[in-house]
Amino acid sequence: MKNIICLFLVCSIIFSCKDQKKETDKTTDKTAKEEVTSTPSKKEITDPKETEIWDPEPKVISFNDMNVPSDAIQLFNGNDLDQWISAKDSTAAAWTINPDKTMTVKPGTGDIQTKKNFGSVQLHLEWKAPDVVEGEGQGRGNSGVFFQNKYEVQILDSYQNRTYANGQATSIYKQHIPLVNATKQNDQWQTYDIIFHAPEFDTDGKKTKSGFFTVIHNGVLVQDHVEILGSTEYIGPPKNDPHGKGPIKLQDHSNPVHYRNIWVRELD
Ligand code: MG
Repeated sequence: MKNIICLFLVCSIIFSCKDQKKETDKTTDKTAKEEVTSTPSKKEITDPKETEIWDPEPKVISFNDMNVPSDAIQLFNGNDLDQWISAKDSTAAAWTINPDKTMTVKPGTGDIQTKKNFGSVQLHLEWKAPDVVEGEGQGRGNSGVFFQNKYEVQILDSYQNRTYANGQATSIYKQHIPLVNATKQNDQWQTYDIIFHAPEFDTDGKKTKSGFFTVIHNGVLVQDHVEILGSTEYIGPPKNDPHGKGPIKLQDHSNPVHYRNIWVRELD
């Protein structure tokens, strides 16, 4: 009998607690609903100042007489090849510096690359196809600019010179065809403005973020934020071996292509 009384008391306490909880929940729900319904509607903005943001203020930059931004690294200013070395053996770059402050690929001396390694960058360069138009397709005025030693934006005399479309001037070599062919005749200087966002890899060597290219050729958009599929291979598909920062490289493809006014701005 004593046990039955105890059991009855325990049950009574449990049911009493449950009832109290239900009441509390009801009260909470009611309060929440009241809060939602009582939130005032957003005030209409009528003062233009309310949508002005003043800080942070963008850094002020200036330009030198070659129109190089003050926050850029000048890779070639016409005077020397101090920023460059041979890609083959790290000796002094052997390309020709001309009296008019340009430089020319010296065929057979090999590619040249920057001493400094870069991640994501904005690059400006100016180039001119060889003085004498000779050769066809990939054999006419071929050079190239490589980012991190792996990703080539093609430089080629593509003026009235048909080749495979993913290998013409401003192609991301064998990956992306340019939107238009903006190549000028071989007696004219041309500009490349390239935004390169580097791919990222984790500690296991797996690619976690693709790289991207945007390319403007002679002021015309030709690559619009295209995904880099891997290294730009001459033969076979792109490779995705992990890597960090790397040099910017100019290609010696046995054609005397001219360069001038090369600068880069680091984006990371
Ligand atoms: Mg090339």
